[in-house]
Amino acid sequence: MRIAVPAETDPAEARVAATPDTVKSLIGLGAKVVVETGAGVQSGIQDEAYAEAGATIAPYAQATVQDADIVLRVRRPNAEELSGVLPGAAVIAILDPYDHVDALQSLAAEGVSAFAMELMPRITRAQAMDVLSSQANLAGYRAVVDAAAEFDRAIPMMTTAAGTIPPAKIFIMGVGVAGLQAIATARRLGGIVTATDVRPATKEQVLSLGAKFIAVEDEEFAQAETAAGYAKEMSPEYKAKQAELTASHIASQDIIITTALIPGRKAPILITAEMVHSLRPGSIIVDLAVERGGNCELAKPGETVVTENGVRIIGNLNVAGRLPASASAFYAKNLLAFVETLIDAGANALAINWDDELVKATLLTKDGALAHPSFQAAS
Ligand code: NAD
Repeated sequence: MRIAVPAETDPAEARVAATPDTVKSLIGLGAKVVVETGAGVQSGIQDEAYAEAGATIAPYAQATVQDADIVLRVRRPNAEELSGVLPGAAVIAILDPYDHVDALQSLAAEGVSAFAMELMPRITRAQAMDVLSSQANLAGYRAVVDAAAEFDRAIPMMTTAAGTIPPAKIFIMGVGVAGLQAIATARRLGGIVTATDVRPATKEQVLSLGAKFIAVEDEEFAQAETAAGYAKEMSPEYKAKQAELTASHIASQDIIITTALIPGRKAPILITAEMVHSLRPGSIIVDLAVERGGNCELAKPGETVVTENGVRIIGNLNVAGRLPASASAFYAKNLLAFVETLIDAGANALAINWDDELVKATLLTKDGALAHPSFQAAS
């Protein structure tokens, strides 16, 4: 059984889908692992480290994937990049399938079974495979670090012979995985941290991290969590009340990190242009939802917008990828945990249980066609 780890082809992607650690584990499962030369360089992993772990280093992409049973990637490869894989090979990556059905169709035409890691069910059994959590944790941390780097003041309170400077006020909007890590990081840096969410369960989590919880806690709030643990889209009435509360709170904040998402929808706008203009010069907004439309009306994907009143709105993309060594270490472990469920180590072969709920949830293409219920209508 041959497992291929090609280099990522998107210049904006510094992560890699395997580390020397996971290569060792994959080899321990009986696989031969082939890594494309240079694949790990941006994550601080040289070819020699993969070779020491037992991998074969291939000189270019096509030689890497030739006769592969499994291809591990960070981002979706195109069909050309898979030329030479075995029929029915498993291709496992963050496939970003919505709005990219054409790309899925060409993967299907290549005859591969493509699995989208971001569709992994968030159930206890699949916790070790949860790429959304592993990457969001890093993004939440990095958002605060990015804000601190752009901020023109210190975050902790400092008392010196030259006087005292007050601690920065940091507001976290959306308290999922990224938001919780952002709260923890902001607290460690000495900020005075407040946070908001629409899911009641987050209140206790915020308080347990030593931050203050701020939200419109009405009847709708009490019902805002779906059975899957996500937020519902709130009513226009709730949004108006939330905006009123947020507007008065935001005006006194130094740093705001937004992370609010609703599955399958555009991110909710939580910070209007007017609210941005209420901030004092030097304040920072980091919009982690910018790839999904943004929580701040003025955020732009991939840019730092500086407003007329001197507020910086940071819209970095692929924020977890800004910590490529850590992000790759987590992601590679997530992949390893999934691969373990797809193979028969004794037979040294792929042995996919098509009835497994993890397979059903993540499988997008199989036997030349689109396989996922969300996309089959398009095939
Ligand atoms: P997410 O990325 O979908 O959303 C981020 C946060 O934004 C959520 O907390 C959401 O409630 C919040 N939000 C949405 N609309 C908002 C609004 N209008 N105003 C303020 N906040 C808003 O969420 P996530 O980080 O992926 O996690 C969601 C939940 O899933 C969390 O409870 C997390 O603990 C849970 N989870 C469970 C598992 C598991 O294994 N059971 C694994 C991972 C996450």
